[in-house]
Amino acid sequence: MALVPMEKIHPYSGKQALLTSKHRKLELIAPVFQESVGLLITEEALDTDQLGTFSGEIERLLPPLQTAIAKARLGMKEQGVALGIASEGSIGADPLAPFINSDIEHLVLVDDERGIIISEVFRSLEIVAARAEVIPGQNLEGFLRRADFPNHSLIVRPRAERFETVVKGIGSLPELHAAIRLCAEESAGGFVEVESDLRAHHSPSRRRNIERSALLLADRVSHLCPECQSPGWGRVAYEKGLHCGLFNILIPEAIGREVLGCVACDHTAPGKLIAEVADPSICPHCNP
Ligand SMILES: [Zn+2]
Ligand SMILES: [Zn+2]
Repeated sequence: MALVPMEKIHPYSGKQALLTSKHRKLELIAPVFQESVGLLITEEALDTDQLGTFSGEIERLLPPLQTAIAKARLGMKEQGVALGIASEGSIGADPLAPFINSDIEHLVLVDDERGIIISEVFRSLEIVAARAEVIPGQNLEGFLRRADFPNHSLIVRPRAERFETVVKGIGSLPELHAAIRLCAEESAGGFVEVESDLRAHHSPSRRRNIERSALLLADRVSHLCPECQSPGWGRVAYEKGLHCGLFNILIPEAIGREVLGCVACDHTAPGKLIAEVADPSICPHCNP
């Protein structure tokens, strides 16, 4: 009988982590981690609005990754636990292609026992984010189609410098029209702003992206550093500098392969090969 080597047990197997979120993200994130490393995630439904809101009443002051870390720590502090998870999304004009909308989802795992933070980011162009200025009684058919309403919820607010009323989580036509009438009373010209409610529990397209970010993070968490056995081994950079495929010319920015690294120690190793030579289309000689 052949001896089958015992599978290494992941250090997070059977451990508990706390997800700080008030927008029903647990069902998107927990199953993925349970399956991949056996980490059990529970949810702390804390109000994280102090760190910024999508609807803009409170501006986000920290960069998204730091916001996610701060969110995770809110719940960890509240419950006195050492393992925490939180996500933070940025939705709007894409930083690389400003004419289209993108959803950039950061997801972090904070481990204060080991003193490490493992994070992933997932960028998606598949996000429903529509906005319009309307007046009461206006035909909204085209806009509502773009906004994938009522599958995706809406937010209505007055078009004014200062206002009191913001109606969120609108999921039916009667609610929408009532909210538009209500907010129009607070607007100087009668115009109101209608836009997608991007909170996770109101945006199915965003929910899918959060789920994808969870798959990425769980995969990174599942890999242990070959040197120190810390969870979180994965891509940390790219090796750059390739020769053009047609001419012997070095293109410093051309990506050759992934560099894998650890979140706890300095160990790195070459990762997946991406290309051996540079595509002539990015070569200043072949494609000036
Ligand atoms: Zn290491
Ligand atoms: Zn070339």
